[in-house]
Amino acid sequence: MILPIVAIVGRPNVGKSTLFNRLVGRRKAIVDDMPGVTRDRNYETVTRFDVPFILIDTGGFEPESSDRLLQQMREQSRLAMEEADVILFLMDGRAGLNPADVEVVEMLRRVDKPVFFVVNKVDGETLEVAASEFYSLGVDNLLTISAEHNRGVRDLMDEVVAALPRRTTSPEEREATKIAVVGRPNVGKSSLVNRLLGYERVVANPTPGTTRDSVDTWFTCNKKRYLLIDTAGIRRKGKTTQKIEKYSVVDSLRSIERADVVLIVLNAEEGVTEQDERIAGYAFEAGKACIFVVNKWDAIEKDNSSVGRFVDKIRTEFKYLAFVPIVFVSAQTGQRLNRIMEEVDKVMAQFVKRVTTSELNRVFSAAVESHHHPLVMGRRVKFYFATQVGTRPPTFVIFTNRPDGMHFSYERYLVNKFREAFDFTGTPLRLLFRGRE
Ligand code: GDP
Ligand code: GDP
Repeated sequence: MILPIVAIVGRPNVGKSTLFNRLVGRRKAIVDDMPGVTRDRNYETVTRFDVPFILIDTGGFEPESSDRLLQQMREQSRLAMEEADVILFLMDGRAGLNPADVEVVEMLRRVDKPVFFVVNKVDGETLEVAASEFYSLGVDNLLTISAEHNRGVRDLMDEVVAALPRRTTSPEEREATKIAVVGRPNVGKSSLVNRLLGYERVVANPTPGTTRDSVDTWFTCNKKRYLLIDTAGIRRKGKTTQKIEKYSVVDSLRSIERADVVLIVLNAEEGVTEQDERIAGYAFEAGKACIFVVNKWDAIEKDNSSVGRFVDKIRTEFKYLAFVPIVFVSAQTGQRLNRIMEEVDKVMAQFVKRVTTSELNRVFSAAVESHHHPLVMGRRVKFYFATQVGTRPPTFVIFTNRPDGMHFSYERYLVNKFREAFDFTGTPLRLLFRGRE
């Protein structure tokens, strides 16, 4: 399913990140060794009233200097208008109506998608009155909220969710292996996509997606069906180099959400950057199978240890993705491109794999025996039983007497044991702990 995007736009200090955090319900930091994942995240998948969407705090994409406020806001709003399905334009009810707000409102008025004009910091009844000047804007969809005190937020989200486009997945799409090709601008995504398509001699029958120029391409390789997600989005990049680098993350997120297998493309010439880490972190959190594709391998000077060094670099920077295969390719010369599809099939097989309950419990009880969970409040943690409840990614429920006291490091220990025993190359695993009824 294509997840719709809801963007929060507005001047600095109006409360964008307060609203963002309230809606996201800030998760706990996940792990220390996941650089780029928990740091300054300004996009997140949120589910409200059972409807999932991607929420973006565009404030997070502001350039560092703040002297050209209006211009930044125009840029921000323009990006939101292009990328988002629903826009929340936030204003400050305490500071009052601001000339910059008025100008942006004029821009947004002409946008052909749902826009909510939201007056924030209306903490109580008396402030409602003060907010009345905002009604002079004469816009529909004007709402007052207090992000900090959670006032009016529910009503706002009610309307936002109702305004989201509804999208469905075709049966054909559910059958195919869906591949997203993600990475920073210029790493060679479009060259790679064109090569893969040409290489497999497919013919692209692009099916227009539901969003503006999101076009997927079907292809067949060894009699299997694949769907390459958002190929137009990738190809489009080649032409418009003006796009703000940071914002291209959003394109990646959208594709990752729909994919089974994510090709994380790195540029051999540049090594690993922070943005690569963000994108990879997102793919991991979204529970997708992954492959690192180191492209432009033709372009660097190599000796016997070049591959080893690059592998080390990736393993150091992406510690939590130690299970992800790495391929070194050149989209330019075509070198080793066939390896990509081999790996796609391998990781996909793991992504949808089921292990039997008896095998699972053999491995599980051996793991629990050989390394005990630390005491929780002086009491032993007991484990009873494990069962696989789902795939994409493989998901396991583990019954225990202390579902809430589970140590992260122990969870990681069990994941590693399952991985060793059953392979699971390239796919994240999920463990859910439940109390025994
Ligand atoms: P951003 O720059 O738009 O992301 O704004 P922030 O979320 O950082 O908020 C700016 C300031 O406004 C912070 O001090 C918040 O605590 C405050 N703030 C946010 N929402 C509310 C609200 O509903 N009521 C009040 N009184 N203050 C708020
Ligand atoms: P995208 O922005 O990630 O889609 O990147 P492009 O596919 O547009 O490639 C960016 C630039 O890198 C172009 O000039 C390509 O010709 C070049 N490029 C792409 N792949 C390779 C490669 O494998 N080797 C070399 N030397 N250059 C490449």
